[in-house]
Order: sequence, then structure tokens, then C-alpha cells
Amino acid sequence: MSSNSSPLQVAVIGAGPSGFYTASAIMEMVPNSCVDIIEALPTPYGLIRSGVAPDHQNTKAVSRVFERTAQDPRFGFYGNVTLGQNVSLKEIRNHYDAIVLATGAPLDRALQIPGSEISGVFGSAAFVGWYNGHPDFKDLNPDLSTTSVVIIGNGNVAIDVARVLIKTPEEMLNSDLAAHAAKIIHHSLIKDIYIIGRRGPLEAKFSNKELVEIGQLTNGVPVVDSAQIPAKVYGEMSDLDRHIREKNLKTLREFSSFSSTDKNKRVHFLFNSRPIKVLGNGHVKGVSLERTQVENINAPGTGEMFEIPCGIVISAIGYQMPPLNEVPMNVSGDLVANFEGCVSKGLYVVGWAKRGPKGVIGTNKADAEVVADHISKQITVGFLAGRDGLEALLNKNKVKWVSFSDWQKINAREVSLAPAGAPRQKITKISDMLAIIK
Ligand code: NAP
Repeated sequence: MSSNSSPLQVAVIGAGPSGFYTASAIMEMVPNSCVDIIEALPTPYGLIRSGVAPDHQNTKAVSRVFERTAQDPRFGFYGNVTLGQNVSLKEIRNHYDAIVLATGAPLDRALQIPGSEISGVFGSAAFVGWYNGHPDFKDLNPDLSTTSVVIIGNGNVAIDVARVLIKTPEEMLNSDLAAHAAKIIHHSLIKDIYIIGRRGPLEAKFSNKELVEIGQLTNGVPVVDSAQIPAKVYGEMSDLDRHIREKNLKTLREFSSFSSTDKNKRVHFLFNSRPIKVLGNGHVKGVSLERTQVENINAPGTGEMFEIPCGIVISAIGYQMPPLNEVPMNVSGDLVANFEGCVSKGLYVVGWAKRGPKGVIGTNKADAEVVADHISKQITVGFLAGRDGLEALLNKNKVKWVSFSDWQKINAREVSLAPAGAPRQKITKISDMLAIIK
């Protein structure tokens, strides 16, 4: 509860959707509050900018909601400030009544099969970050002078990667695909993309909308073996899950009737195929797989092996978070230990750092409301310095932070650089971003 005079001071670490939804929920529930978001990159919006596929501009439009949150005078943005590097959690805690961790799960889950360290194997965090212009991955420079690509995983990220690799420059016109990636992708020799699921179509995590898009590509056709598609959905599940699966089976059945020679590129869906080893000596030459048993949710191996030759492997098997200093982790070490987002007195967690890398952007809204409610009931105003204290600390630590109006200058430059039809041309070097706001 806040007092009438001094506001409740809250710092949120991370400017992705979970961070922005939390800032908004707190300001709504506690009118006398100030919320500052601290973010490692000079740019806000996290996975909206660097995870959502560049051709899914409608999904990215949610950033307009966050822009409105940022216009609230109670809100502050401190970009280019890395927790644990530029400031410690302990230092931040001196100035805020509550801290919310919204740091996401930025690392690739390890593939953990022999050969996964060979050159030409990429995790989707790196690969998606590369084509989305994330500064950390701009120099990834994957060699796409190959006709065959293997993508491991049956989630929406696997579908996104396949679609982005196969869409024509015309189909990517209204996208913010990073210029360095467009150059490589649009000159690639790719003909065949294999999307590998270790279990069956019923266990695939594709959203139907994303799956359907693979059947609508100008240059690519989905290839599905009808023998791999179960006749119906079976097993215990919610009505919603059953509905999604029924839609996916229907789409896959339609795909199985497409002719693989209709177009000059193909997206092969291979189910019940478990990757055993990445083949190659120095660089990827293929993947060795074992067929798994159909119609068994655990999909044990059958002993039948086969190989797919390829020049690049992208592992899209989910994400994980690194352990955070001074923050308790759960027993498996992959999430911040919490109960309903509460970690310890004055410390909270939301988003993927709280519940793992699942759900859609809107899922973060519910998380945010739960934590905002706890904060409004549990925290009393401590008459702390809030952003004045943070700014003094950053000045003392010689940190050049980026404000929201600084970001708007970077944004305006990106928009002004956009090729015809595109929403923006991403600036990918942090020094270039900082030069704009000098
Ligand atoms: P995901 O949905 O969790 O899918 C991961 C896939 O990798 C699953 O098929 C999983 O199979 C497989 N996998 C995990 N470990 C594996 C291993 N060791 N070997 C082989 N396969 C393995 O993850 P995601 O695709 O990264 O997506 C993350 C979240 O972002 C999801 O909630 C997703 O819906 C969301 N997202 C949404 C959109 C969209 O709405 N357009 C776009 C992108 C991402 P098992 O099921 O057998 O474990």
C-alpha cells in the first residue's frame, strides 16, 4: 500500500512483454507508484523485437500498447544497463521498495547429442536473434550455401525459422528482417528443410495458424507422409487442446495431399524421429536419427536408424535462463524459485523466468496482474529514492543509460532507414545506436 505523499518505488528488470505488462499493471493497481524498467539492451520490447518472426508484424504491433505505458510520467526506462555488470541487485534494492525480475529465458536449451558442437549447428535463440538483428548475434553469419537444412523441434519457433528461410524477398517486403540476414537468406541454395519431431503430430506444439502458413508459401510446399498422421485425436486433454490438435491433424492431412514437386522448395515434416548424432568432421554433413514408436506418448526408440544429409542444423528445442546472482533458483536450476511470482521479501518474478519458456505474449499479462496484486498488498512505502537513486548510482558507475526518449530517436532513425514497404531497418550495433543519441 502506498502513502499519499511518497510513491511506491518499483524496479522491473527486463523490457520484454512480461516487464512492460508488469509495469502497466502496477501503475494501474497502485496509482501512487513509480515503475522503472532496467534493460540490458538500448532497445525495449525484448522478444517482440528479437524473437517474434520479422514477417509477423501484426504480433509485433503490441509494442504500441507498451509505448503508451512508457508515456506515463510514473514510468522510467533505463536501457543499456546490465544487471550484475553495471549494477547489482543489492544496489538496486537500496533504492526501490520492490523489484520484479522479468529477465526471460534467453539461452538455448542444450541439444546434448554427439556432434552438437560442430560448426554449422545453431540454437534457435542465436539463429532467430541473428535474423532479427539482435546485437549479440549479428555476426553469426551462418553458411546457407547448402541445399538441405535440418530444424530440430516441433514448436512454433521451428515453424518460424523454416518460413523465414523459405519466403521470397517479395513475401518478406513488409518485414523487419535484418539487412545482413536478408542478404544471406535470399541468396541461399536451400531446397529442402526438414522439421524433426521426436514424438508424433499429436504431441507437436505448433499453433494451427503457424502450421497453415507453411501451406501458403509462394516458393515452398509442405511434405507430410499421411502414414504418420493418426486418424483421430486420442488421450486425456482439455477441450481446447483437443480442438488445437484436431485442427493440426486436419492441416497435416491436407498437406499430405500436396505434390512435393509443385514448388521448388520443400518443408518436410518428419515425426517420430529422434536425433541421435550430428554428423560431420569440422562442419555439419547430416543428422543421424532413430525412428520412435508411433502412438506412444513417450515415443521410445525402435532401433531403426536413418540419416538426413544437410549443411546446417538449427536446434529449436526451447530456451532456458542462466542462473542470476543473488537470486534463488528452483531445484532443477532452470527457473527462479517462486510462489505465484513471489521470490523473497520485496523480490518478484514474472514471465519465462517464472514459468519457463512457454505461452504466448498475452500469457504474460496474467502473470503481471498476479504479481502487481501481491506487490500492492505486501509492500509498504519505504520512502526510498527510486529513480533519483538509480540515476546517481548509474552516474557513479559511469553507465551511459538510454532513456525512452533516446530509444525513440533510435526508433525514428530505423524507421527512416526502412526500405520501401518495410516498417524499419534494424540498427544492430550498440555503438551505432548510442551514436544516434549522443
Ligand atoms: P516449444 O513450443 O516448447 O517446442 C520445443 C520442441 O522441441 C518440442 O517439440 C519438444 O518436443 C522439442 N524438444 C525439446 N527437447 C528436445 C530434444 N532434446 N530433442 C528433440 N526435440 C526436443 O518451444 P519453442 O518452439 O521454442 O517456443 C517457445 C514458446 O514460444 C512456445 O510457447 C511457443 O508457442 C512460443 N512461440 C509462439 C509463436 C507464435 O505464437 N507465433 C512463435 C514462436 C514462439 P517434446 O514435446 O517431445 O518435448
